[in-house]
Amino acid sequence: MSSQPTERRDFIRDMIATDIASGKHQAPITRFPPEPNGYLHIGHAKSICLNFGIAQEFQGARCHLRFDDTNPSKEDQEYVDSIQEDIHWLGFDWGKNLFFASNMFDFFYECAIHLIKQGLAYVDEQSVEDIRAQRGNVTTPGQESPFRNRSIEENLARFEAMKKGEIEEGKAILRAKIDMSSSNMNMRDPVLYRIMFAEHHNTGDAWCIYPMYDFAHPLEDAYEHITHSLCTLEFENHRPLYDWVIDNCPVPSKPQQTEFARLNLTYTVMSKRKLLQLVQDNLVNGWDDPRMPTVSGMRRRGYTPAAIRNFCHTIGITKFNGFTDVALLEYSVREDLNANAPRRMAVLNPLKVTIQSLSDDHDEEVEVQNNPEKPEDGFRKVNLTKEVWIERDDFMIDPPKKYYRLAPGRTVRLRGGYCITCTDYKQDNQGNITEIICDHIPGTIGEAPPEGIQCRAAIHWVSCKHGVEGEVRIYDRLFTAENPDAAEEGFVSVMNPESLNVITNAQFEPSLAYAPAEYHCQFERLGYYVSDRKDHIAGSKAVYNRTVALKDSWAKKQK
Ligand code: ATP
Ligand code: MG
Repeated sequence: MSSQPTERRDFIRDMIATDIASGKHQAPITRFPPEPNGYLHIGHAKSICLNFGIAQEFQGARCHLRFDDTNPSKEDQEYVDSIQEDIHWLGFDWGKNLFFASNMFDFFYECAIHLIKQGLAYVDEQSVEDIRAQRGNVTTPGQESPFRNRSIEENLARFEAMKKGEIEEGKAILRAKIDMSSSNMNMRDPVLYRIMFAEHHNTGDAWCIYPMYDFAHPLEDAYEHITHSLCTLEFENHRPLYDWVIDNCPVPSKPQQTEFARLNLTYTVMSKRKLLQLVQDNLVNGWDDPRMPTVSGMRRRGYTPAAIRNFCHTIGITKFNGFTDVALLEYSVREDLNANAPRRMAVLNPLKVTIQSLSDDHDEEVEVQNNPEKPEDGFRKVNLTKEVWIERDDFMIDPPKKYYRLAPGRTVRLRGGYCITCTDYKQDNQGNITEIICDHIPGTIGEAPPEGIQCRAAIHWVSCKHGVEGEVRIYDRLFTAENPDAAEEGFVSVMNPESLNVITNAQFEPSLAYAPAEYHCQFERLGYYVSDRKDHIAGSKAVYNRTVALKDSWAKKQK
């Protein structure tokens, strides 16, 4: 693991420390409240690291996982399962504190009845259009609904009829009675309940009325005795409504909402609606496509939990909305893998080298260092034979001055093995180079070549006899525009046509073919790679995904 500073400071942690010092709370109770209508993405990871991070840092604290599943039309068990798997993978655990908002439906209902009985809620039976027309706008106050002053008895009866399924969808809603002329639009008699005849993944058809987010969320927090309800800045002007619900309902505790800036990443779309569109329109291969900013996509791409946590720590928690450069995320990934990933050899664009000076059956174990960043990881044995694969672009017939790799008359080192000198090459009738002929220089394993012979580069290689052929998927960013959401013709129009390049005839050193799935490593000189979680089968099918290149090639391209 790369180093993770333990001391974290931001305005939210400072506020919690103050609340503990003043005796307002003994320990913070936070929650992560996803709606199970999609897979988690890197933005959620920020919220997870914040909420679960706080629970780890403060004595006696805890963080709940709560599924905010109050809208049956978009929710699904598949999402419930994937969300739990992703949070665990990120390294966090809710213990026994797993909640479903749908298990609180009775409580929401009681609160609604309470509001009606206090004269603070009413059933509005106007058309959707009429209600919208009466809302006004920021400069014009709204108008009161003709149903606003119904009697409590009538409201109770009509709400009961809504609940019993006696009223059609869209024909009635329950509204809070607050202030139609409030300068805060959220306070203009907001909707609390609507009718929906939909099958719920948890409660089936037990209910046909469902609470709105702004009503349910504070009640969920209060029900679970959450002390600090942390959400993104868009909810800042919903806070008066949050507090109104808490102040006017029979709640067992009084949570407090605090907002922080959401994560936006360059070259990335993050809205679940857009990610769902990419999946449904087959523009990517599922939610866990390695190009997706989803947690499961990043996992499959080879990002590590530590890299994602370090990234979230680096960006910190603020009140200012802005864009974070995706290169910073890639940097965190590279940093973690540079420290921890073993080095292996794979050739992606193979060109055969015949070392003429070795006998046909030459088969020699040479030692190659596993990770220069971690000398304690030692060396591994790799077999060197008369014929080896090297990278096609490690040979040039007529190289420029600064090219130190193989060329006629030039000498390079095969990593961990001999220095070899190119004596000849073969071409087909189109002029393509088909084979390189070399001589090895005896006694050069671990030793410099004799004086007078220059050998300035070591290149990676794979034995033709022992190497295993397999597939490499080279991933790049999914979008070519820095802000895909702002693209004139929509985010799909700025998808990168070269975001996936599949190589089917790569050559791997045997240890890569026998490695388990999700094996992280550096392909020497090429980049960081991981064996694919789904398609790689140890010993029978080698499939590797590029996690990230060794260097930031985008920064270069843009200059
Ligand atoms: P989206 O807008 O992508 O649909 P959402 O906010 O509707 O996301 P939820 O499942 O409701 O998704 O989010 C669960 C939690 O994750 C919320 O507390 C939300 O504030 C937080 N969250 C979602 N997106 C981000 C983000 N980009 N940065 C930080 N936190 C986020
Ligand atoms: Mg949401």
